[in-house]
Amino acid sequence: MDTEIIKIDRENFERQELRHAGELIRAGALVAFPTETVYGLGGDALDEATVAKIYAAKGRPSDNPLIVHIADLKALDELAVEVPELAYRLAERFWPGPMTMILKKSSIVPDATTGGLPTVSVRMPSDPIARALISESQRYIAAPSANLSGRPSPTAAEHVIEDLSGRIEMIIDGGACDIGLESSILDLSGEVPMILRPGYITKEDFEEIAARVEYDRAVLAERVQESVVAKAPGMKYRHYAPKGQLYLIEGKRADVIATINQLVAEKEGAGIRTAVLCAEETKKQYHCAHVYSLGALSSEKEISAHLFAVLRTFDTEHISVIYSESFEETKLSLAIMNRLRKAAGYQIIRC
Ligand code: AMP
Ligand code: MG
Repeated sequence: MDTEIIKIDRENFERQELRHAGELIRAGALVAFPTETVYGLGGDALDEATVAKIYAAKGRPSDNPLIVHIADLKALDELAVEVPELAYRLAERFWPGPMTMILKKSSIVPDATTGGLPTVSVRMPSDPIARALISESQRYIAAPSANLSGRPSPTAAEHVIEDLSGRIEMIIDGGACDIGLESSILDLSGEVPMILRPGYITKEDFEEIAARVEYDRAVLAERVQESVVAKAPGMKYRHYAPKGQLYLIEGKRADVIATINQLVAEKEGAGIRTAVLCAEETKKQYHCAHVYSLGALSSEKEISAHLFAVLRTFDTEHISVIYSESFEETKLSLAIMNRLRKAAGYQIIRC
């Protein structure tokens, strides 16, 4: 199919520019659109046939549920049942924004949308284009990240075009995403609120509103990987992964730099295209033909905003081996390291 691409200026647009996109959503078509986290692949969340098309376009396993995007708080009571009072307080503080809440689903949400789970995940994005599209469509929009399953999440329209052109009806190009990491996911369907995916809104942020918040075991397991090449259960599940082998080097800053330089010298000596992934502060200390800085540690959003785009660049530059610093110092380090460890397939070198 032909994919229509429209450009919208998020700072300055008229609602009517999204009229056709809204019609497409109502007609059961797929429209990729920008949000403040990453680009989403949107379709009518309550229509089973549309949801099936989302899974097919992404090549996503159908037991991996979709987040339902809303523009209005009253949607919460339509999509979910037994909504705890805490959910409304969290919504008041963090919506619109990069927080997803998991709640018990109402009967209007098809099983296809939730991957067969009795829960539904809901988010109200803050990006003005995303909000306007949801309102204009008069639908709830299921939107996983608009990448092919397994590839880095898209943080610019070019990434969506690369992965999904010809597979969906429309791509709305609204420029680069502000945060660049997917939303924080908080599960409110059990007794204790659990963080299932770390993101821009941190545990400390949630604790301003909720008395008790815990990390899901999977989030923490990644944080305490000990072994040199960890045999994590999820090792075979490649996510965000570049085609080249990515290794994360963890340790004291000076040791990390020395270890990476030594590894690079070995690989480059053997004629292998090798790259280094690092922070702006340390990039001059690497002796490597391909050094990629994610931005300054002192400005955490730079690191998060650039991460997925740089992971894609390794593919276009045909890099075979990548050595990455760890990014432990910032408020977003848990969220950033969570993505990097997955991208590395848990290949971690401690020094
Ligand atoms: P993405 O499709 O990249 O936006 O990621 C959505 C994430 O939310 C996936 O990791 C899903 O497994 C997770 N998710 C969505 N709905 C639920 C749910 N009801 N329970 C648990 N996880 C969910
Ligand atoms: Mg995704």
